[in-house]
Amino acid sequence: MKPTFKLFRVAGITIGVHYTWIFAVIFFSWTLAAVYFPAGYPGWSTAMYWITGIGGALLIFVSVLLHEMAHSLVANARGIPVHSITLFILGGASNLDDEPQKPASEFAMAIVGPVTSLILGAIFYGLTYLPIDNTTPQFAIIGYLAIINIYLGIFNLLPGFPMDGGRVLRSLIWGATNNLSRATNIAAVVGQVFGWAFIALGVFLMISVNFVDGLWIAFIGWFLNSSADASRKEVALRERLSHVKVRELMRENVATIKPETTVQDMVTNIFEKQHGRAVPVCHDGKLAGIATITDVKKVPQVKWATTPVSKIMTSDPLYTVAPEDNLNKAMMLIARNDVNQVVISDQGKCGGLLSRGDIIRLIQMHNELGIR
Ligand SMILES: [Zn+2]
Repeated sequence: MKPTFKLFRVAGITIGVHYTWIFAVIFFSWTLAAVYFPAGYPGWSTAMYWITGIGGALLIFVSVLLHEMAHSLVANARGIPVHSITLFILGGASNLDDEPQKPASEFAMAIVGPVTSLILGAIFYGLTYLPIDNTTPQFAIIGYLAIINIYLGIFNLLPGFPMDGGRVLRSLIWGATNNLSRATNIAAVVGQVFGWAFIALGVFLMISVNFVDGLWIAFIGWFLNSSADASRKEVALRERLSHVKVRELMRENVATIKPETTVQDMVTNIFEKQHGRAVPVCHDGKLAGIATITDVKKVPQVKWATTPVSKIMTSDPLYTVAPEDNLNKAMMLIARNDVNQVVISDQGKCGGLLSRGDIIRLIQMHNELGIR
């Protein structure tokens, strides 16, 4: 999931929020300020309920962020680069460049998130025993963070893929059977069962107890169910693409461009005359970046003639694959980062692209011919 707004960088990881996150902050602020805190801590002013409510809602996401940071740091340590973490309406997502190659890596990466949340929960729970007046906003926030982090830890340990517990389950089955597809299928089916259970529980609560809480739980159930289904399909597709090398599909002799070329020249000579929507930027035969139609849109047309390509090109992050990589790696990079192509990096040599369209055409052709 690509962030809509980028906030800051920690340890080389960009932290951002998806626009849906804003709805969650509003929802949690309102729930805390109008329902939860007034019920547990009577007698504050309305302003105090709202300040504490908004603070509490933001701290939920700090808790989620710490949980995701734990996943990302272990992933990085295990050789799987993480470029960004996105906070969205239902929590957080670490955007991994690749899937773990060993069951032990997946186990470590998955379990560390819930463990972090449970430790945070225990720390906040311990803080409630400090001599703080238990009617104050400070005490309310500490108590609330204890509950939220313990909840985050337990909820994420549910053994349905793609939740952390589902990944733990998958790693265990994968380790025992040495069969990743089968392990994914089992963990995803468990994930879908949990999804349906949450939907049923949510609908029941909507009718009988509290409409808003029920709706929220049903929504989480729907999300779990569809993510489990999507993950299963993604793994099946990856399995198929893992038998094809990037070399077999990449376009090798695409036009390239120098960083000092103007945007106008690039539009006239590359985008208008050739069919591509992207061009590798090469400096002394080495890959410097990629320039796409989207990049061109960043500068107004009157400035095209005076702006060098180096000013608009994308160079960080630059998603690259090697000819010997499997196609599934390229597909993952494209899908996870929501880009249209990856650049071929052949020992630093410049000039080669593989686009989303190239991969989709291969899949369609395989489907049509019944190739598995
Ligand atoms: Zn997690």
